[in-house]
Amino acid sequence: MKLNKYLCLTCSAIFLTFSAEAVELCGNLNQGELVIGKLDNVGEVYLNGKKIDTDKDGAFLMAFARDEKENQLLSIVNQQGETQSFALPIAPTDWNIQNITGVPPRKVNPSDGDLAAINKENSLLGRAFKTLNQDTFWQQGFIKPVEGRISGEFGGQRIMNKVPKSPHRGMDIAAKEGTQVKASAAGKVVLAYPNLFYSGNVVVLDHGFGLQTVYAHLKEIKVKLGETVEQGDIIGLVGKTGRATGPHLHFGASLRNLRFNPQSLLDMNNNLQKCFTLQTK
Ligand SMILES: [Zn+2]
Repeated sequence: MKLNKYLCLTCSAIFLTFSAEAVELCGNLNQGELVIGKLDNVGEVYLNGKKIDTDKDGAFLMAFARDEKENQLLSIVNQQGETQSFALPIAPTDWNIQNITGVPPRKVNPSDGDLAAINKENSLLGRAFKTLNQDTFWQQGFIKPVEGRISGEFGGQRIMNKVPKSPHRGMDIAAKEGTQVKASAAGKVVLAYPNLFYSGNVVVLDHGFGLQTVYAHLKEIKVKLGETVEQGDIIGLVGKTGRATGPHLHFGASLRNLRFNPQSLLDMNNNLQKCFTLQTK
């Protein structure tokens, strides 16, 4: 009897290996989240028709924007050229939205002079967020860059005098001015730039596969463009440069130029225990 059961299990394992392509996803299919995928067999991965990188073991990364549409399409092309598609239902996240009225108008709309500085900042950050290479620094997981209370969550939005402002694109961590800021994971410095309009002194680290982390409002920058840092290396000091009302670290995350909640980087190792399988026969 025992032997039969054992044989049956073996059969089903063999059956699955040869007749179905399985994809494992780890994380939460929610707006603002990063999800790690892994292919069972060698193949190519497409998200909404766009090819995305896989490593030698078939691992890949997906991130969903703050306002991501409900239906995303994941397609796998196997070595025989056969395509299998999976509809990914992205659950909405209840973002924190505050209505503020009675704000002086010039604090709501930037002046023309400010716009030139804002455009420069957008182009510098935009270039950094388009970095794409095969480094796999991201696989080691991520640490909180400074200890401290979360004073502003990703996705929060203020509506000032009925004008919706840009949603918050990172996580704010309150800490004393001068506190050392650590690299959340090993990576290459793709931006180390002083005095930007919103971000102040800012560092962007690239962790490979199009994944970057951002460290803004620094009092001082301690790294240089092009340098490679290890996880935990000191890259700057907490400050309040740029648009900041008090000392804090703005910690941001981007995947292939899409901003997502950096909390899901800090949760990555936990999320790797929360995996589920998509499968077709
Ligand atoms: Zn912030």
